[in-house]
Parts: sequence; structure tokens; C-alpha cells
Amino acid sequence: CGIFGYCSYLKEKSRKEVLDVLTSGLARQEYRGYDSAGLVVDGDKKGEVYFFREVGKVAGLRKKISSSDVDQNKTMMEQVSIAHTRWATHGPPSERNCHPIRSDVNSEFIVVHNGIVTNNTELRTVLEKRGYKFQTDTDTEAVAILTKYIFDQHNEKPTFTNLIKAVLKELEGSFAFVFKSAHYPNEVVTARRGSPLLIGVKTDKKLKVDFVDVEIAGQENSESLMEAPPTGLLSVPNATPKVLRTQSRAFMSEDGLPQPIEFFVASDAAAIIEHTKRVLYLEDDDIAHIAQGELHIHRLRRSEAGEPSPQQQATT
Ligand code: GLU
Repeated sequence: CGIFGYCSYLKEKSRKEVLDVLTSGLARQEYRGYDSAGLVVDGDKKGEVYFFREVGKVAGLRKKISSSDVDQNKTMMEQVSIAHTRWATHGPPSERNCHPIRSDVNSEFIVVHNGIVTNNTELRTVLEKRGYKFQTDTDTEAVAILTKYIFDQHNEKPTFTNLIKAVLKELEGSFAFVFKSAHYPNEVVTARRGSPLLIGVKTDKKLKVDFVDVEIAGQENSESLMEAPPTGLLSVPNATPKVLRTQSRAFMSEDGLPQPIEFFVASDAAAIIEHTKRVLYLEDDDIAHIAQGELHIHRLRRSEAGEPSPQQQATT
């Protein structure tokens, strides 16, 4: 099974082009095996989305798309879309259980998921007690609804990244996710623990990589850009040997000006290699935020991920 995300900024794209990128990204992960496929794209009005879901092969999904009356010529300067091929673990392969999975009828939060959330029954029970209604048999739906639940608890709107950090803290199991939300138009958050995930970047401009709050113990080893950027940009100044796994970095144009740029999120590089060779592999507990043409990666600190940090361990 595979997940796929596509974000484009300052680049005119027709809905047909977007749908083609998504279905081809899914088809290129076909060898991973799956029983159903689905995707969601931006609709005509703000906050509106169009879902397509089909049991079986990507060819069937493509057919469904071409026979729908959704306007394929509509163009957008910014869009984020997500797609999925499913290998059912919770709930039979059916259209109802196809991803993307949404939190509610208004699709406030939409997620695609690879893997298994092992504490989903507990989460479901708690959420149902609080009045949330489930529409599918999937473990993934507990994640979508938990996201809405945590969002609803906030008086002030959290950043998309902080919201998803709070969600991940509650989850057990192994997963890769891509989230999209009506509350965060043109943004995507993607994260992994156990399941593979990578991000491809495509732009004509030179990219600058910025490190913020880099606190890495020992050797910096998290850089896996297949196409190495100019020397110096990826070195870590003043690395402190104290705290493990706290890192944030951003990709921006060297001149800082907004630029046409596309991001591809996938389970496998095979899905994006036709678009770009600039690929970044995420590590466990990485959370990536794509918004306004920028990519920021945060690494969940051990304490945030539910384990004691080495510092805490040293002082207790
Ligand atoms: N556990 C999820 C489900 O059954 C995702 C399975 C997958 O990795 O495709 O829907």
C-alpha cells in the first residue's frame, strides 16, 4: 500500500493535471499491493473538496474520475491533494473504508494512513463517548476524529504542526500519515513512525536549507538528500551533544522570494522520481509541514514522543 501527497504553489495547474499526478503516483506504487484506492482534491469553492474512491486497481479509480462531472479544466495557482492505496487491516476493502478518511461530513480533517494504529479501539471508545460518530471500520478514522477533537478543545487555533504533534502523542502502532484540513487551506502535515515516507521537492530556483534549533547528539546523520545541495548548507553548526532528536529545518529559495514550487509526498521514491530527483527521506517521529511554498521538518523530541529524553533520564 502507498500514500501520496501533492502540493503546488505559484504554479498554474489544471485539476486534470493534479489528478494525473495523483493517479500516476498511486500506480507507481502498485507493486506494493493493495485492495482499493482513493484521493481527494481541492474543490471549486474555498474549503470544498472532491473525493474519489474505488475498490480495486488504480485503473478503476481513473475510470471513475473520467466519468465524473467534476470540472477537469478548472485551474488553480495553489493546491494540496492527497491519495492512497489501501491494504485493509481494519475493516474489509469497500468504498466506505477507502482512504482518504475524514473526521466528519464537512471534511474538516482528512487523512491517508499506512500502517496500524494499535490503540484505535481505546481511542474510538473515548471519542464515541464524547459524541463523535464513526462512519467506517478503519483504525484510521480514530485518528481523523481525534484530530478534530483536539482541534475543538483549543480556544486559539493551534498551528497545523502543533495540532498533529498533539495527535501523534496519543497514538500507538506504526504509521505514515498525510493530513489535509479545511482549517488549514493549502497546507499539508505529514509524519511517520515505522512506515516509510519521503518528500520530493521540485523547483527551478536554488534552494536554501535552514536549520533552526538544531540539537543533535554526535554525528549528524539525518541528511539523505539524494541530490546533494551545495556544500556548507547541510552542516550543523554548534551541534550540542546533550539532546537527541530535536531538529527543524526549512527549504526556501536562496533569495527568499516566493517561487513556483511543488512538493511530492510518497511511501516510495518510485512514485516521485518522474517529477524530481531531489528527495528527502523522513525518519521516525519526523513531522513535516508544507505551506506557502516552504517545507519545515520538525523532529518530535523523545519526551514529546512519549519516551523520556536522555536529559530527563540523566536527571531522574
Ligand atoms: N490500517 C489502515 C486501514 O485498514 C491502513 C491500511 C494500509 O496501510 O493501507 O484502513
